[in-house]
Amino acid sequence: MPHHTPLIATIVVGIVLAFALGAIANRLRISPIVGYLLAGVLVGPHTPGFVADQALAAELAEIGVILLMFGVGLHFSLKDLLSVKAIAIPGALGQMAVATALGLGLGLALGWPLGAGIVFGLALSVASTVVLLRALQERHLLDSERGRIAVGWLVVEDLAMVLALVLLPALAGVLGAEGAPKAAVPFTIPGIPDIATSLAVTIAKIVAFVAMMLVVGRRVIPWVLHRIVHTGNRELFRLAVLAISLGVAYGCALLFDVSFALGAFFAGMILGESELSQRAADETLPLRDAFAVLFFVSVGMLFDPAILLRDPLPVLGALAIVMLGKSAAALLIVLAFRRSMATALTISASLAQIGEFSFILATLGLALKLLPEQARDLILAGAILSIMANPALFVLIDRITRPKSAAPAVAEPLSLRPTTLQGHAIVVGYGRVGRVIGEGLRRAGVPFVVLETSVDVVTKLRAEGVEAQCGNAAEPTLLEAANVAGARLLFVAIPIAFEAGQVIEQARRANPTLSIIARAHFDAEVAHLAGLGANAVVMGEREIAAAMVREAFPPPPGAATAASAP
Ligand code: AMP
Repeated sequence: MPHHTPLIATIVVGIVLAFALGAIANRLRISPIVGYLLAGVLVGPHTPGFVADQALAAELAEIGVILLMFGVGLHFSLKDLLSVKAIAIPGALGQMAVATALGLGLGLALGWPLGAGIVFGLALSVASTVVLLRALQERHLLDSERGRIAVGWLVVEDLAMVLALVLLPALAGVLGAEGAPKAAVPFTIPGIPDIATSLAVTIAKIVAFVAMMLVVGRRVIPWVLHRIVHTGNRELFRLAVLAISLGVAYGCALLFDVSFALGAFFAGMILGESELSQRAADETLPLRDAFAVLFFVSVGMLFDPAILLRDPLPVLGALAIVMLGKSAAALLIVLAFRRSMATALTISASLAQIGEFSFILATLGLALKLLPEQARDLILAGAILSIMANPALFVLIDRITRPKSAAPAVAEPLSLRPTTLQGHAIVVGYGRVGRVIGEGLRRAGVPFVVLETSVDVVTKLRAEGVEAQCGNAAEPTLLEAANVAGARLLFVAIPIAFEAGQVIEQARRANPTLSIIARAHFDAEVAHLAGLGANAVVMGEREIAAAMVREAFPPPPGAATAASAP
């Protein structure tokens, strides 16, 4: 192993191992995240063999956080953020208070001083951005109401954490840190305690940050991108998107002391207000996924498996606070706001984990001599175990909510509503393509069920009396609810061949005589989908070309319209 290229070694070994173990995990039908974390444990300092550079891995992970939050910001408007503030602010603060109190209790039980217990509890109270976003993205929930609440909740937690990180040094003396380094107060005003100055300066910085993003950022960022779009240079456009997301995040962290994640989120939100957002989001996707994987690897690297033997009970205690205490608090708060059980369960599950902020807080607490080392180890163990268990939690929720949602009268607007149709058609994806198919089916008098990820589309269809299920059609429960076994026709009208393939494979298995017609955009996709069992695959680009040729050379009147070549 060449020792002079630690950055390359860390990226390469991290990605290769994460890929290998992620693929194995996937094979075993557990979340690939578990594989990524284990890859981190393997290359971490606590296991024998190659040891990657921990500091570098943590920084690489931070890039993943930036790109992820940028992507979320793109789909989030200021309106969305404000629309959930009534529940997100009390929710996040309430949940943090409960978690901190529980953490304090555990700390006192372990014989730590008061200050240590508080910092420990705070560290257990913030959820990881990456884990939450990955969970929501995987289930196509980011655009739903519960997704918006969860993200708004996270933004509030982030803001509270920024405050906590800044105030901690100032408070260290009060909290009883021995020999704590002097608090980093920018200046002191005679007669006014340092804490008050720190607090005021921090709040002023956050306000300045938000104001600058909303006033300057809102004009400058879209203006730059529009200019670049008009150059018609794709590479430059990609670069512009990256430069904006990374640059704004870094600049904000430097200037305003807000987290990278928050800076990136606002940069994305501002960009998202122009129509360019979709393109911008697509440009960052591959990078974002690669760095998000490195995030999990870097978390795994911090973990020392020996703690499970050394301190099993405290580990269980910390884990219970993260997974049970926080969830229960979130569940009750969301229910108190009169949201449905399904919404409450999703939100509490997505927040029942801890991650990057907890590590930052733990490191700072240790440096200020506020936290014992044992606390940091417990936080790390709590993080890795709760992240590993998170996907299972979602599976559990699906189990809990499914039988209930099958009852037709419970008017949760987006629960599954299994169809009673037989010999019907199923339309997967109701966008530009699916809509036209739907019109055709209506004209032909064929009853159909729509499977769509967009909550808005499904809500609208249901209002029109069309049967529709909301979610990723590749989920077996959706196909089941559409009675794929009893259907006659399946139109797979989504643009992503990867997911289309999963739908086709399952549908074919459930119904050998089903007529499957799929959509593709490349020749390779046509072959892939046909190989998985599609009876016909229509390649969009070929049809467009054929229609364009017909436009130029219209067939003589009377001639039958030529069918396009297969
Ligand atoms: P269009 O490309 O305009 O035909 O839109 C495609 C439609 O398919 C959009 O409305 C998406 O929300 C929807 N869609 C994309 N992926 C999936 C999926 N995996 N399951 C169900 N619907 C999807």
